[in-house]
Amino acid sequence: MRDYLCEDTIAAIGTPIGRGAIGIVRISGKDSLRILQEMFRTKSGERKEHFDSRKMYYGVVVDSSGEPIDEVLTVYMRAPKTFTGEDIVEIHSHGGIVVVRKILREVLRRGARLAEPGEFTMRAFIHGKIDLVQAEAINELINATSEVSAKVALKHLEGELSKKIKLLRDKLLEAKAYIEAAVDFPEEEVEIIESGEVKRRIQEVLNGIEKLLSTYRDGRIIKEGIKVAIVGRPNVGKSSLLNAILQEERAIVTEVPGTTRDIIEETVTLEGVPIRLIDTAGIRESSDVVERIGIERSLRSIERADVILFVIDGSCGFTEEDLKVSEMLRGKENVILVLNKKDLGLKVKCGEVSDWRCVEISAKSGEGIKELATEIVNMVLLDPETVLKGDDVLITSERHRELLEKARDSLIKVVNSIEAGFESPEFLSMDIDAALNALGEIVGQVTTEDMLDIIFSRFCIGK
Ligand code: GDP
Ligand code: ZN
Repeated sequence: MRDYLCEDTIAAIGTPIGRGAIGIVRISGKDSLRILQEMFRTKSGERKEHFDSRKMYYGVVVDSSGEPIDEVLTVYMRAPKTFTGEDIVEIHSHGGIVVVRKILREVLRRGARLAEPGEFTMRAFIHGKIDLVQAEAINELINATSEVSAKVALKHLEGELSKKIKLLRDKLLEAKAYIEAAVDFPEEEVEIIESGEVKRRIQEVLNGIEKLLSTYRDGRIIKEGIKVAIVGRPNVGKSSLLNAILQEERAIVTEVPGTTRDIIEETVTLEGVPIRLIDTAGIRESSDVVERIGIERSLRSIERADVILFVIDGSCGFTEEDLKVSEMLRGKENVILVLNKKDLGLKVKCGEVSDWRCVEISAKSGEGIKELATEIVNMVLLDPETVLKGDDVLITSERHRELLEKARDSLIKVVNSIEAGFESPEFLSMDIDAALNALGEIVGQVTTEDMLDIIFSRFCIGK
């Protein structure tokens, strides 16, 4: 069980593990100052009792036998105007991981406990410094793999999403006040509810919720990346295309080994959006055409894909085997037909073989790759222009989406009841409460410990 009462003083290394110019040990809690007093010595080797809040001090830290560990800059920040809302001490040292660890060990020896993942942020939340959406955004920001996703997370951290949720909640509270009036004055009950005031407000909240929900698709894509499957018969140039895109962008973020030996997945950033490319290459040689084009494996990645690149060798034209692949993709709208090997001269042109969007490229020379990238991004994002600017508030979290849907469903019930003509105000009130709770859970006005455990355990230690 986590320490939700924040009784312990916690500490962790607050900078990435490894070699850096400086390393920071962060301490939060009531013993922070005492620990600093015990460990810090001035240039002239004296112990120091008084530290001004938010002022940097230069000196050394010493271990329990009084031996200096390193020269440091240190700062004490007095509660409650700190990130966690508690006393915080930061010790900035020269950095080598050995030194930073040594300082941390000394801090722990003097009574602090190693912070659990997310514990600093959790304390900030518990002390009302940030709400839950903001707390989650810190993690989102740390894990952002592209410029746009970082921007979206920053909006959450700055409280833009929370503000919207709270406005909706306030409006809903107004509607509830009307309904409560109806409970208190039964003789005017029908009049109050039918006056339209309740319904109008609830409808406004519903619209606001729908608007936020409509951003989830783009939000999820920005956060998780566009899943692109590259399919086609052997030798049309799938692997070459994958490499051409990687080269074009040069910004390989991660390399995820495929789930099977034959499927390769790589992530690149196109126009600030992460793209996860899945090459269904390396398909076994087999006399059976169906087997050769690896229908089963390809199907799986096709089903998971946001965009399917159907590659054919345009210099050969559209072959029997290409036809097999195209059968597999029939009815799908998220397909881009890629006519490869343009440098050899194309026997088929875009517009001649199918209704799918189509791009002519040469994986060898790089021609058309940029256009293909733009086509991918535009195909997937509902609102590419706004999203790519990163100025809008987007829902990116499954948790937020679920709660918004829950609130929406309760409010739809309310509207239906009002329209149907009769429902006792108590029942309306119950559904509104359900919606209020769902919205409250998003920002953490309503919480359960289980939920907090899940959310904060996703953090790295030291955050
Ligand atoms: P895959 O089996 O679909 O992954 O195809 P590969 O990427 O392995 O390519 C098959 C062959 O086609 C290789 O010899 C590539 O060099 C060649 N190739 C791929 N793309 C092009 C292209 O745009 N132009 C030319 N001339 N050759 C290409
Ligand atoms: Zn290949």
